[in-house]
Amino acid sequence: MEILRGIPVSPGVAIGRAFVLRSEDFFSAARTEITPDDVPREILRFEEALTRTRSDLMKVRRKIAQELSHEHSEIFNAHLLILEDRTLIEDVLSQIKGEKVSAEFAFTTVIKRYFEAFQHVDDEYLRERLADIKDVGKRIILNLLGKKHQSLEHLSEDVILISNDLSPSETASMDRTHVIAFGTDIGGPTSHTAIMARSLEIPAVVGLDRISTMVVTGKHIIIDGNRGIAIVDPDQSTIERYEQEEKRFAQFVIQLDAIKLLPAETLDGHRVELLANIEFPAEIPSILSHGAEGIGLYRTEYFYMNRVDLPTEDEQFVAYREVAERLNPRPVIIRTLDLGGDKYLSSLDLPKEMNPFMGWRAIRFCLARPEIFKAQLRAALRASVFGKLKLMYPMISNVTEVRDANRLLSEVKEELKAARVAFDEKMQVGAMIEIPSAALITDVLADEVDFFSIGTNDLIQYSLAVDRVNAKIAYLYEPTHPAILKLIQLTVQNAKRKKVWVSVCGEMSSDPAMAILLVGFGIDQLSMGPFALPKVKKAIRSVTLKQAKDLAVRALQFTTGEEIKKFLEAKVKLLAPDLFQD
Ligand code: PEP
Ligand code: MG
Repeated sequence: MEILRGIPVSPGVAIGRAFVLRSEDFFSAARTEITPDDVPREILRFEEALTRTRSDLMKVRRKIAQELSHEHSEIFNAHLLILEDRTLIEDVLSQIKGEKVSAEFAFTTVIKRYFEAFQHVDDEYLRERLADIKDVGKRIILNLLGKKHQSLEHLSEDVILISNDLSPSETASMDRTHVIAFGTDIGGPTSHTAIMARSLEIPAVVGLDRISTMVVTGKHIIIDGNRGIAIVDPDQSTIERYEQEEKRFAQFVIQLDAIKLLPAETLDGHRVELLANIEFPAEIPSILSHGAEGIGLYRTEYFYMNRVDLPTEDEQFVAYREVAERLNPRPVIIRTLDLGGDKYLSSLDLPKEMNPFMGWRAIRFCLARPEIFKAQLRAALRASVFGKLKLMYPMISNVTEVRDANRLLSEVKEELKAARVAFDEKMQVGAMIEIPSAALITDVLADEVDFFSIGTNDLIQYSLAVDRVNAKIAYLYEPTHPAILKLIQLTVQNAKRKKVWVSVCGEMSSDPAMAILLVGFGIDQLSMGPFALPKVKKAIRSVTLKQAKDLAVRALQFTTGEEIKKFLEAKVKLLAPDLFQD
């Protein structure tokens, strides 16, 4: 038995047999010389392969549009564009004509040049594009060779799909009645494949490093999408343990399903709003089916990241309008561009910094580049008439930043009025509380905004001086550290006094025990990844407001984060035993 650790991207547990999708070396065609007379035939073969690939991709796109959503199907627009890339096509044709080589060899020579060029760029956007080019390239080669794409479409039994990587088109075309989970060597939580797995609700773990080389088709395997592990060749007792877990998880999901559309309200009737965090509009069906009452954090920087140029005001307007309309009458909080830290933009050639998390980023960058910021503000304001939009500024460290941002917002409003463009005059504006200095002056900040949204991910990072992406010091990253709880408590107290409402949109709200604590502190709204919603709702529905408040008071009496964590877990286990079945 071997346990591999990776990144959990879609929850649930599956036990079954592996189906290994080999990423054969598609791009190593042998050099085959041709005569000048063969040139037209090779060009025709290449063009036919492009046409067939195009029709294959259109089929996949149609299937996804029907079975999932229009947004998911749009991932394939990028693939189709690659097929129309004149430079690539001309390069291949001139190889065939000039070098007198077969279409396969010409194509692989050109595409390998692309791979090399892309590999040297340290940029998430380009890495994603490289994956698209590989995916399309694989299809072109197979069509040139007249082979069928290794088929995931017609499986006859349940399998756990194992592969080095899975392209969105492979994920999209797989037979979902038989693919019960998947595990890949590479990939990250925000890859399109991971997002699709979540939408399809198939347990999935990515970043398993070498699973595709360790496992052969038919091997027994367990994918644990809750913990982010894969167990190869599990022993009998592990299988039995996981069979129990699988059953419990299924029952738990049924139980949670039953309360999904009920309000998040304590036993004594105190309502809390439960909203979802999204990165892409494609996640909307999933958040609604998990009972989200709106979007509490729309991380718009991903919109800027998936491209080589900056999004125009109109493009942003179209995206924001779509989200506003689809959620209407539910609220949507657009977080203005939070660039920096671990989120680089490929479209902006910014200098590398020694301390990127504390550098020229987020609101600091937006205030220094008002033309970029104002385009986003204008797009959000224009979209505000199509639903219930709100806006919030990230990484606020002092009151001047909020005032400056609001001044730019007022300027944009005046410009829109002058141009007779409609917008919601009452669109609420909030400040994210992610830096201790902001939490400490929430009494002052409250005079400038309608709400606060506590970004606990960064609040913990900046308060405890713990880089949130550094695994070596992850043991210091303590959400239950008394300092964090005190900053949250102070923020809520100041907010209540000044009558502004408070949300928590960091990962902390997705932990049921922490969620009860936050309700006890007086938080009005919690926003989290959609999968956590039913569980957190169940937690809130299991306690009274008084119990939550007592929990908050008692938690603050401990001196270490570890003690608080243990206390909360023990207490919540007693208050909401059902929650711990999984
Ligand atoms: C946070 O910092 O808690 C937050 C919600 O923002 P992000 O995770 O995008 O930095
Ligand atoms: Mg943040």
